[in-house]
Amino acid sequence: MTFAAFKKLTAKNFSLRNGAIGDIDAALKAYHTPPATKDKLNTLKQAIDAFKQVKNLKHGNYTQSGREGKSGVTLLGTQVAEALKPAPLVTPSTLVSAHGNLRQVQQGPVGAFPSGTNYRVGAENTRMEGWSYAPFDPVEFSWTSAITSGFHGALSLTQTSRVTEALRRTKMALGFAHRAMVRISKVTSFSSPATTEEALYISSFGSYDARRIARVMRNFTVLKLAIDRGPRIVDMRDTDYGLRCYAACFRGTLGQTDGGTGQVSVLSALTVFLGRAFFVSGTMNYGDSTDATVGTLVHEFAHGAINAVDVPPVDASGTWLHARESDIPTDTNFGASTDNSVQASTATTVRLLGQHKPDYAIVNADSYGQFASGMLRHYGG
Ligand SMILES: [Zn+2]
Repeated sequence: MTFAAFKKLTAKNFSLRNGAIGDIDAALKAYHTPPATKDKLNTLKQAIDAFKQVKNLKHGNYTQSGREGKSGVTLLGTQVAEALKPAPLVTPSTLVSAHGNLRQVQQGPVGAFPSGTNYRVGAENTRMEGWSYAPFDPVEFSWTSAITSGFHGALSLTQTSRVTEALRRTKMALGFAHRAMVRISKVTSFSSPATTEEALYISSFGSYDARRIARVMRNFTVLKLAIDRGPRIVDMRDTDYGLRCYAACFRGTLGQTDGGTGQVSVLSALTVFLGRAFFVSGTMNYGDSTDATVGTLVHEFAHGAINAVDVPPVDASGTWLHARESDIPTDTNFGASTDNSVQASTATTVRLLGQHKPDYAIVNADSYGQFASGMLRHYGG
């Protein structure tokens, strides 16, 4: 309740609000001064408990005290106890059911795909190493349709290994990135010269700023949990969409923070669409473009797990090269390019974005991809 409401409920004529009631007043005011933290809530609870103890001694039971005529302290105590309970689990929204929200990378010489002759025979949620396989489902994914000829059929053993291997390396990259962020979160400024991890942070997310670092830290925690849980890989190769798709995720938020403990968890598997371009040899061949593969997957996971957007690039002097859907930081589409194909998604454009627009860099999918793949390059694996 507000301080004003509490004051009204516990008013006593000709009596100063000092002693135990004054302590509750101060703790309640502090709690209502942002940020509302769990520590402040605990302080408030202690003040309420102390009030009860003092009045129990004086009146036999605190409810007999003049202040408690309208049960104000009891009511506030109930509200505080409720707020201190762990937050109930909320089912996160997974898929945004609008095709327009699907973010993807298109790569590979699409025209060069050979036509297969077999019908695909995958089963839902076939468990693989670190991921599960899901076939195209025309009802769930009604925004595209199955092709009518030229099927590629079931994933071959080589293709299955390629997915497993790419995800294994992505998992390593996210592990390195997460551990680096744990270390970066502990410093109060960057060293001079910056360490390799700090330099990579700066080139991805910009200069030192504790608030931004905390956001990036939490986001990598969610990304790491999402890959540790094992993504659900949807095989889109035999769909119109999948003919030209490399990898894609709908934007979504998988992370939940427990209100009581502050612990971060993910409550559902990340759904990732893979198309034919993921498997093509040549330009994006897994063997000779490992970093790009990992960077691209982290980019897509960032859309799907932490609701990252594609931010447009800025030039060397920090001038926007394209419009954003919103420049209001609390908007879901803050920083999102109004044209999906105009985005800061190269090492250079990500670095410039971090340098000039760091608040946008921390919501940009590719900034996460660059940081994670850079960590993998640095630590190897
Ligand atoms: Zn994207």
